[in-house]
Amino acid sequence: MIIDLRTGIGFDVHAFAEGRKLILGGIEIKHDKGLAGHSDADALLHAVTDALLGSLSLGDIGTHFPDDDPRYKNADSTVFLKKANELVRNRGFYVNNIDVVVMLQQPKISPYTQKMKEKISKILDIGADRISIKATTTEKLGFVGREEGISVMAVATVVRK
Ligand code: MG
Repeated sequence: MIIDLRTGIGFDVHAFAEGRKLILGGIEIKHDKGLAGHSDADALLHAVTDALLGSLSLGDIGTHFPDDDPRYKNADSTVFLKKANELVRNRGFYVNNIDVVVMLQQPKISPYTQKMKEKISKILDIGADRISIKATTTEKLGFVGREEGISVMAVATVVRK
């Protein structure tokens, strides 16, 4: 039997902004500032969405959901991930697993990662044990270290059904 596996990578950066909610992995996180963006600025879901799209060479989040489209103003980013998953499934694949690294100085997201995994697992209709979310600081270096923003890297592997 030939197993058809594909891997995609995703990366996203958003700046912190006053007066916004901090949404990561579809979960609201207690913090004194949120992330700037056209949508809800969920950099984690954006990176995962791009990883899914990349796995089957389906373009990127910007081509599917332009950030000048008024329909996506303050949009719930779970919509983007749902759509990317539909595209993957329509091509006869499903998501086998996802690995995510969130780079941020503050706040600690470990109390929220299980909830994020469950949220993503529901959207993708796969087990939460197939989703990994890790976090790291950048030892106070760079824009992440100065708490100007966060960046997220994601890898997704998809398999043909
Ligand atoms: Mg983004």
